[in-house]
Amino acid sequence: MKKHIVIVGAGTAGITTAALLARKFSQFEITLIDPAQLHFYQPLWTLVGGGIFPKEKSQKPMKEVIPAGVHWEQEYVTKFSPEQNTVHLANKKSLEYDYLIVCPGIQIDWDKVEGLRESLGKNGVCSNYDYQYVSSTFEFISNLKKGNALFTYPNTPIKCGGAPQKIMYLAEEYFQKAKVRDSVQVEFVTAGERVFGVQKYREALEKVIKERNIRTSFKLNLVKVDGPNQLAFFKNIETNEIIEREFSLLHAVPPMSAPEFIKTSPLANSDGWVDVDKFTLQHNKFNNIFSLGDASSLPTSKTGAAIRKQVPILVHNLFEVINQREPNQHYNGYTSCPLVTGYHKAIMAEFDYDGNPDETFPFDQSKERLSMFLAKKYGIPFMYWNAMLKGYTG
Ligand SMILES: Cc1cc2nc3c(=O)[nH]c(=O)nc-3n(C[C@H](O)[C@H](O)[C@H](O)COP(=O)(O)OP(=O)(O)OC[C@H]3O[C@@H](n4cnc5c(N)ncnc54)[C@H](O)[C@@H]3O)c2cc1C
Repeated sequence: MKKHIVIVGAGTAGITTAALLARKFSQFEITLIDPAQLHFYQPLWTLVGGGIFPKEKSQKPMKEVIPAGVHWEQEYVTKFSPEQNTVHLANKKSLEYDYLIVCPGIQIDWDKVEGLRESLGKNGVCSNYDYQYVSSTFEFISNLKKGNALFTYPNTPIKCGGAPQKIMYLAEEYFQKAKVRDSVQVEFVTAGERVFGVQKYREALEKVIKERNIRTSFKLNLVKVDGPNQLAFFKNIETNEIIEREFSLLHAVPPMSAPEFIKTSPLANSDGWVDVDKFTLQHNKFNNIFSLGDASSLPTSKTGAAIRKQVPILVHNLFEVINQREPNQHYNGYTSCPLVTGYHKAIMAEFDYDGNPDETFPFDQSKERLSMFLAKKYGIPFMYWNAMLKGYTG
């Protein structure tokens, strides 16, 4: 009988893994479980927010991206019984597996910021982190004439750590072109202590911030939004002091965490993420379970680019385990972030677990370049839809 591999989540990680498995091996039965009608290419949302793309370009019907030969179960997973090799679905059905791959992405915790959810899309409050509201980002940027434009970063792990500031650079350039920059104060308000974790790219970004007269505030976490009065409240993460700031535009990045059904499952580590070995991607307790992508405990910056490198390693190691061998390929934490710094330039950050640059091109990638912007706008999306989602990750 064919071994049954079940994959939870048909996002970037789930589709790419299923496609590579289906392409390389015909001896497995593969089931993808995901309730969503649409598959999103979320990195495009930065450019949608910047007014470059209509948001519809970032999605495709799920049925168009499910790889041939893979069965799609269109339902929510609610529970795991790893001792019984079973996943439970919202429709009360259960599915048995021989091997399980868990990749349902990250959960957006809108309600952890008082007033944020109800403010979205109104009174200058926007966020590129939601498909429904992403178009209001550009609407508010293009209508702004004066006041404070605040761009926030929360005190939790998030997907694409660079995205909160990419939209700020686009907005700042837009304000210059619209000749309103003198009356608009642009500010990055972050719960973090620095603008970026990796020194090489941080230094480059600090230069951009200085040259373009952008203000920065650190250790401030957005806790409340009063949309009608255009007031944002931040908590100082060291002193707990609450600071009130007026805004005309607030690009809010919400707190995020592992999906609830993962947090409460036997698969989770103490922080809620799927508990896997950071090199082999195999579960630390259940040998027939693997995880990758945003829901996993892999301690790297959560991006689709990281997934591109994780998929072939996971597939290789899974095959070893199926054949009763030890997983022997190691993921080095590679991740990448095209840090868009304007409408024609980007810094291409690529680095590993230790924060060492792990770059693709034979030039200094910390420099702002048109070529890297064009890669972000055209090259990488083309590669995503036409190669990566078909299991070609090289
Ligand atoms: C604004 C923005 C900008 C970004 N920019 C970049 C960038 O420039 N470069 C980059 O590489 N990455 C970027 N990213 C990050 C990238 O999109 C994510 O890291 C990537 O999509 C994560 O893939 P995933 O498969 O783990 O999760 P997702 O792609 O989010 O997919 C998760 C899937 O799981 C499904 N699911 C959820 N719950 C259940 C359940 N209970 N049962 C079954 N299925 C479930 C969902 O329906 C979804 O289809 C950006 C993200 C955003 C929001």
